[in-house]
Amino acid sequence: MTHNNKVVIFLGPPGAGKGTQAARLAQEHQLVQLSTGDILRDHVARGTELGLKAGPLMEAGQLVPDDLLIALIRDRLADMEPVRVIFDGFPRTQAQAEALDLLLEELGAPVSAVPLLEVPDQVLIDRIVERGRQAVAEGRAPRADDNEETARKRQLVYREQTQPLIDHYARRGHLYTVDGLGTPDEVYERILSGLH
Ligand code: ADP
Repeated sequence: MTHNNKVVIFLGPPGAGKGTQAARLAQEHQLVQLSTGDILRDHVARGTELGLKAGPLMEAGQLVPDDLLIALIRDRLADMEPVRVIFDGFPRTQAQAEALDLLLEELGAPVSAVPLLEVPDQVLIDRIVERGRQAVAEGRAPRADDNEETARKRQLVYREQTQPLIDHYARRGHLYTVDGLGTPDEVYERILSGLH
């Protein structure tokens, strides 16, 4: 076992700011950011077999099957030494969380901390719709799922499938809640003050 291992799992609804915060934390703490949404979007853009399966589900605001995500993460963690990683968007279901527990146990790299970003529902929808508008304004293609209807669907899926994981990690003593309202700097400071 390496003492340098560090495993941080960001939890929180779509639009809470996990990606932004995870990227900064990864950079400043020499951690690898594993954002399953980004990885899947890359597969969709390249038209890989995984991308062809995932694309329509993502566009509909639904989850991609567990076995595909678990295989993807298993692959990314293989040969990582030390294991210094931030998960952003994974795990999203009980099956994924249990698979990750086993995987980390095999690697001798226990979960270090699970920050939960909390943001009121309507603010989340506004942020996602704004992110879509912003992309268009800057001449970029918006994410296919950054519109109000799909954002609401993603919120529903989060509540049903991912929220139960809060309990999973709270029971193990890893979870701490972070107020996700405010500037990105303010939120980042709150995340840091809960890390140890
Ligand atoms: P957000 O959290 O802002 O909705 P993400 O970029 O994390 O967006 O994910 C976008 C989409 O990618 C999800 O709606 C889902 O279809 C798919 N996805 C990402 N991570 C997972 C996962 N761990 N399990 C299943 N599907 C996933």
